[in-house]
Amino acid sequence: MSELSTSVQEVPEQWMGLGGRGLVSTVVATEVEPTCHPLGKRNKLVFAPGLLSGTVAANSGRLSCGSKSPLTGTIKEANAGGTSAQMLAKLGVKALIIEGMPADTSKWYALHVTEQGVTIQEESETLGKGNFETIQILNARLGEKVGVIVVGPAGEMQMSAANVSIKDPGSHIRSCGRGGLGAVMGSKRVKFISLEPTQNKVAIADPEAFRQANRVFTNALNSHPVTESLALYGTNVLVNIINEAGGLPTRNFTSGQFAGHEAICGETMHDTIVERGGKPKHNCHAGCVIRCSQVYNDLKNEYKTSGFEYETIWALGADCCIDDLDDVAEADSIMDDLGIDSIETPVAFGVAMEAGVLDFGDGKEVCRILRDEIGKGTPLGRIIGNGAASVGKAFSVTRVPVVKGQAIPAYDPRAIKGIGITYATSTQGADHTMGYTIATNILGVGGSVDPLSQEGQVELSRNLQIATAAIDSTGMCLFIAFTALDDEKCLPALIDMINARFGISLTADDVTNLGMNILKIERGFNLAAGFTNKDDRLPEFFKDEPIAPHNVVWDVSDETIDSFWDF
Ligand code: SF4
Repeated sequence: MSELSTSVQEVPEQWMGLGGRGLVSTVVATEVEPTCHPLGKRNKLVFAPGLLSGTVAANSGRLSCGSKSPLTGTIKEANAGGTSAQMLAKLGVKALIIEGMPADTSKWYALHVTEQGVTIQEESETLGKGNFETIQILNARLGEKVGVIVVGPAGEMQMSAANVSIKDPGSHIRSCGRGGLGAVMGSKRVKFISLEPTQNKVAIADPEAFRQANRVFTNALNSHPVTESLALYGTNVLVNIINEAGGLPTRNFTSGQFAGHEAICGETMHDTIVERGGKPKHNCHAGCVIRCSQVYNDLKNEYKTSGFEYETIWALGADCCIDDLDDVAEADSIMDDLGIDSIETPVAFGVAMEAGVLDFGDGKEVCRILRDEIGKGTPLGRIIGNGAASVGKAFSVTRVPVVKGQAIPAYDPRAIKGIGITYATSTQGADHTMGYTIATNILGVGGSVDPLSQEGQVELSRNLQIATAAIDSTGMCLFIAFTALDDEKCLPALIDMINARFGISLTADDVTNLGMNILKIERGFNLAAGFTNKDDRLPEFFKDEPIAPHNVVWDVSDETIDSFWDF
């Protein structure tokens, strides 16, 4: 972007076997100075489809996006569904790397990716516009089938909670949500990247072996009970489950249960969707067989939001005490349009409520602040739009649920200790998706580890973080992991597909090694950026304040946390 020029390079030999998270983290760790300013010219923004993206493998359409994070200062990878991963893979793009920044920062640009390469054009029409309007403009300008990767106003204003949004098959959006990657895209003055549709197919070395493996893989996914629950209630099935377990952080993390849980739970959401003629299930990209997503209509039976996730509903619902699903849906829709993380931002609101900036439970005021303050970049909007830690500092709040500057999501680490290990040790700040111990701590998937005991939590989190790093490299949605943990046919079929795609012979050990290497590469970047094991800690209020109903504190020792990295 400094030169406003593009080039196409062959993939270096040593990166051939990488895709998705493995590739973006490797590029960032190799090419970005760890101590650089995340919003400066030395940072890079990298996109990569997974190893299986663009094929017909079920659930393989995730796009990884990576950079040094302006929110955490660590390395960052976030991935999302939508149409872009499959389109990039079919265009023959292994990774797209955006580097530098324009000398004249008053000008904005769009990148256009075609079979011939990438071009850069100045852009003005979509500036300042929300994601929904931008996508409508681009559909009209470039055709309904164009792929779009875009930043909303939050990204243009380089807020640390800004996400990178990806157009989905219904022209709604999916989000690479965490860590402020949208701010990095905004710093490079790229409003959007368009992807030209193509008839190309991704080459498969052994099509018959691929077909057979995909059949086994798909059957395994379809017969797992978690697949059934996700298709029925979406991820929001978890509200009642986590509330029952006493691990639903409520009122800025002061309780583990929310009195209004029935009003916001997956069962209520499902009935409301059906009653109002919405869609109880659909997929965020072609080929997903789990279909955890949904379309939620408003009181007039008109479209309000989609991809309405548990973590967002928890954060606005329990954490901000908003027991009105329509207010939560309205806020979700505004956040999608602004392009801002719907975990970080509501957790920031929870901290602001504790500071008295607004009242707990005031969903209408949350929506007003989103629209009129964050959307317009007022001082209050910028404080909240830069995340929970920013609000804590601005208003001198000590109960600030963040690790490495990133908001802790929907599972309280005092009552579910495995996830606390993941929050503390993740290379990316607090992030449940990095090692989702809820599967085993609460759902009984992949065995059972008592959530309240310290026993076995480090090993559980470590194994899941290693497996997740590998899965995030395939382009697979993480929700295949439930089946992979329980069904012995699932993981071999996934490896068979990778082997059939490339004509190679990976083993399960190779895949484990891939996951370990990715974690070590990411940690190496963080250490070089100045992080130490002292940063692998939860905020002190978790040690001091017992949480109801179990009346437990975070009591895992620093030595136990540090043993995570003994591999
Ligand atoms: S299971 Fe949900 S998140 Fe995963 S690919 Fe399908 S719709 Fe997208």
